[in-house]
Amino acid sequence: MNAENMSPTEVMRRLAEAEHLIPQRDSNFYHSVKQQYLKKGISEKQLFWMRRLLTIHVLALESASPIPNEAQLSREQKPKISSWEQWNLKTLQDKIQQARAAGLKYPKIKLICDSPECGHREYQIYWSEYFGVTSVKLGTEFIFSILESGNLKPAARYAKLTPESEQKLIPHLSFLQTFNNDPTEGAKVQGRLTGACCFCQHELSTDESLSAGYGPVCAEHFGLPWGERTGASKEKEILLSNLDAGDDSIPF
Ligand SMILES: [Zn+2]
Repeated sequence: MNAENMSPTEVMRRLAEAEHLIPQRDSNFYHSVKQQYLKKGISEKQLFWMRRLLTIHVLALESASPIPNEAQLSREQKPKISSWEQWNLKTLQDKIQQARAAGLKYPKIKLICDSPECGHREYQIYWSEYFGVTSVKLGTEFIFSILESGNLKPAARYAKLTPESEQKLIPHLSFLQTFNNDPTEGAKVQGRLTGACCFCQHELSTDESLSAGYGPVCAEHFGLPWGERTGASKEKEILLSNLDAGDDSIPF
């Protein structure tokens, strides 16, 4: 069975049946797309990634042959960056702008990708005073800027992608897109990985910051949930407010 021939409904149904097979690094991305699918459907690009997840993590297990890894998949099956416009990092752009508005002169988000595909590289999403845009470095190399719209403007050397440079960049862009799609969860994963806050690089020292992946100051600067609005306390709050609402609505 080939994911390319399946309808979007079939792709999402097969993934939903096999969610446990999706590795953690792809899980957040999958769930955010799934939620959108349930609400309003998904785009061609998202469908492309869902087909890829299905092929790599689910269908591969069903075939009798050994499980192919990324490198073993033919180039045809690998995703293509036919255009830089396929990616959008608007949330990251917004977070950097929000931090500047909150008074940080040089806001920066430092991320590590814990995947062999990415080669455990470090990313920096930072405000470039010189160019007046949010920019992204891979290691020490400037790769692209993020425009107001969230679209990417590549460095000159990546403006025209060769098949080789495409293949090299896809895992990195995919990682950044996943972080962008859920920065709260992404920061938590980064915190677990490095023991430090990805926004200010300070060591995480309290129970609250260890569980969130950042502290109250960065939460405020970057507009992230904190305290009452996170995790168990949020659920408790919703539960209590529902109970209150329930009491009010009893008609006698
Ligand atoms: Zn911090």
